[in-house]
Amino acid sequence: RAKEKGRNAYEFYRPSMNINNYERLVLENDLHKAIENKELILHYQPRIDVAANEIIGVEALVRWNHPQWGIISPGQFIPLAEETGLIVKIDNWVLENACKQNKQWQEKGYPPIRMAVNFSARQFLQRNLANSIRKVLQDVEIDGSWLEIEITESTLMKYEESIVQSLEDLEKMGIRIAIDDFGTGYSSLSYLKKFHVHSLKIDQSFVRGIGKSPDEEAIAKAVINLGHSMKMRVVAEGVETGEQLAFLESQNCNEVQGYHFYRPMEADMLDEILKSNRLATL
Ligand code: C2E
Ligand code: MG
Ligand code: MG
Ligand code: MG
Repeated sequence: RAKEKGRNAYEFYRPSMNINNYERLVLENDLHKAIENKELILHYQPRIDVAANEIIGVEALVRWNHPQWGIISPGQFIPLAEETGLIVKIDNWVLENACKQNKQWQEKGYPPIRMAVNFSARQFLQRNLANSIRKVLQDVEIDGSWLEIEITESTLMKYEESIVQSLEDLEKMGIRIAIDDFGTGYSSLSYLKKFHVHSLKIDQSFVRGIGKSPDEEAIAKAVINLGHSMKMRVVAEGVETGEQLAFLESQNCNEVQGYHFYRPMEADMLDEILKSNRLATL
């Protein structure tokens, strides 16, 4: 009975929630097994270069295919994984498998694209981060220039000092760095200068405000200008409408990603799309 109750906690789990130690243990234990049991799956969402009108990359987004509960979204298990430290294993699994997938697409002769993966703050506490990534790239036999690592603005601020060196090491391998959910934290301009960052991803909340909320639209515009003035590429995520796209295009936003183009999907479903690299809805 207690176990049943623990399992039900998946649906309701939030980091702030007061679940008891036993329930937490059950969740944690299942998550450990998720990796061993190959229950984690990756979906990929295309990123479109606005000027070139083509897919230039995909973002790998993890899901948990739980034997009882079905597909669990990352918002429901990443927070627990972060609290327990399991996130490092998960992110490493994602990195390796996403790179393998990209290599497969390249071997099929498709136009090469960049693979973006999300890294949690914990990744940057590993001393040998750069070396372990280097090893993955070597094993998969793919160049670092096909990899982009997304870290949230809040992660950058949390681990400021230790992160600067890691980012420099990654840059030497040709890996790109993107700041995810940009605009939701409180980074200053001078702060951004310290990091070797290639792209800013405007948080979805601002994209949603385009044409609806003058304040949020103004923030979207300001982020684009900020990124460009710092020689970064700017990516808008969560683009759902033609109106949003038109605005972003008028502001010279470099890349767009969102349901207006493609939802995240399994690798097989992307095959035909990547093969011809034709856009369905642009
Ligand atoms: P994120 O990296 O900011 O990813 C964007 C999220 O927005 C994804 O949700 C994506 O499916 C969703 N999305 C994309 N286009 C649209 C749209 O047009 N409208 C709306 N409403 N949503 C859209 P998802 O896949 O549920 O992932 C949520 C978050 O979980 C991610 O946010 C990321 O922070 C985290 N996450 C996902 N995969 C991983 C992973 O492998 N490692 C780590 N550490 N975090 C991950
Ligand atoms: Mg992301
Ligand atoms: Mg984001
Ligand atoms: Mg997010």
